[in-house]
Amino acid sequence: MSIPDKLIQSLKGLPGFDQQAFTDAHAKDMFLTSIRVNPAKRPVSLLPGTEKSPVPWSAYGYYLEQRPSFTFDPLFHAGCYYVQEASSMFLEQALRQVADLGKPLRVLDLSAAPGGKSTHIQSLISADSLLVSNEVIRSRANTLRDNIIKWGSSNVIVTHNDPRDFSRLENFFDIIVVDAPCSGSGLFRREPEAVENWSENNVQLCAQRQQRIVADVWPALKAEGILIYSTCSYSREEDEEITDWMIQSMNASCIELHVEEKWGIEPVKTNRGGWGYRFWPHRLQGEGFYLAAVKKNDDSGGRKLKTKSKQQGLIKSEKDILMQWMDTDSFEFVKYQNTVYAWPASLAGDLQIILSEMRTIYSGTLIGDLIRNKLIPEHAFALSATITPRQGSISLDLQQAIAYLQRKDLQLANNETGWKRVLYEGFSLGWINILTNRINNYYPKELRILKDI
Ligand code: SAM
Repeated sequence: MSIPDKLIQSLKGLPGFDQQAFTDAHAKDMFLTSIRVNPAKRPVSLLPGTEKSPVPWSAYGYYLEQRPSFTFDPLFHAGCYYVQEASSMFLEQALRQVADLGKPLRVLDLSAAPGGKSTHIQSLISADSLLVSNEVIRSRANTLRDNIIKWGSSNVIVTHNDPRDFSRLENFFDIIVVDAPCSGSGLFRREPEAVENWSENNVQLCAQRQQRIVADVWPALKAEGILIYSTCSYSREEDEEITDWMIQSMNASCIELHVEEKWGIEPVKTNRGGWGYRFWPHRLQGEGFYLAAVKKNDDSGGRKLKTKSKQQGLIKSEKDILMQWMDTDSFEFVKYQNTVYAWPASLAGDLQIILSEMRTIYSGTLIGDLIRNKLIPEHAFALSATITPRQGSISLDLQQAIAYLQRKDLQLANNETGWKRVLYEGFSLGWINILTNRINNYYPKELRILKDI
């Protein structure tokens, strides 16, 4: 791979940059595979690939020796793990070091699709914390929603808004994560086509857009709140210079993070006395990445937010139907037309505010549709890590599980009719409905595996 000379020249003098080692790291045909486990769902012992070693800066990250076929691993579809680049998992260190994660927090992941950082945040925050996971591009927001559903938490709401819309939620969030769209040089090894699109001009455009995004979302951060900024670009304009711009223009102060020397991460002191953390592929097992954490010093004098409208709840007979399906005690139910969502009761007020202010595409756990006094359960309900449906379940072997995920007809030696979840190695894949003469496969059409093994 030929790295643009202008990029190489611009990196000279940066701490940790070594031209020869950097170009060698790009010349090698190396493809690191790493995954992050879902602590709400699975033990590490069942992960794909035989050899694995931990990602040093994450409690849940593992490198795999080989890249298995994730498509044909039912546990991937059950949301037991997420395939994620290792450097990005450093977000975990930042969150653990800047916040008390045992406390209830309101967290915004502003540029969240496809969901790597959001699913990670979900694994780190407490059950009484709220994650708002946002993506401005609609098609990407749908992928984000699917990954959030797979992960199975209930304390999340997925929105589809422009960053500037968040100024309506003044002083609302304790933590905002801005994993900014960038020029992408840090991912050249994974996406060689990104080399063709790289230019100095694009770096400038990205830097301007990054400033705009941070400025737009800044009012939504509480006083003393933390903004974690990251990119997968090597360019100072998008990294240290944005950090300095936040210190200078946003009345922010930078937070120094502890990194162990053996991790190979390069702490960089910025011109205005801030700290940024650089990931060089010749120094560690990971791709190019940059992260900085800043604290908001002032209080921009926010208003107390109230909900504009209240979402419709359930009437008693509808609640009775739901009680046949789940323990309803700690949930509040909201209904949109026939569709029912379960919200953690302790977060209902916050969820109501987000719902009335933002363009919401998913919230809590989608339970199903109430039609003619019956519940037609939704896929998200089967995949939930926080709600266990009362309906029975059936275990499938690997071949049956793949057939299920391909949405094929199943033949099972079971004659008890009704809705059942199908499990693989104890983890739920979705719903089937057993009728007297056939089994209906309710795996979502748009998620089905199209390939044959
Ligand atoms: N955080 C994601 C993860 O860990 O999976 C990756 C995010 S990616 C680096 C940047 C995201 O920013 C993309 O999903 C992109 O669609 C979104 N984006 C693009 N333009 C944007 C804008 N003007 N404001 C906010 N987000 C934008």
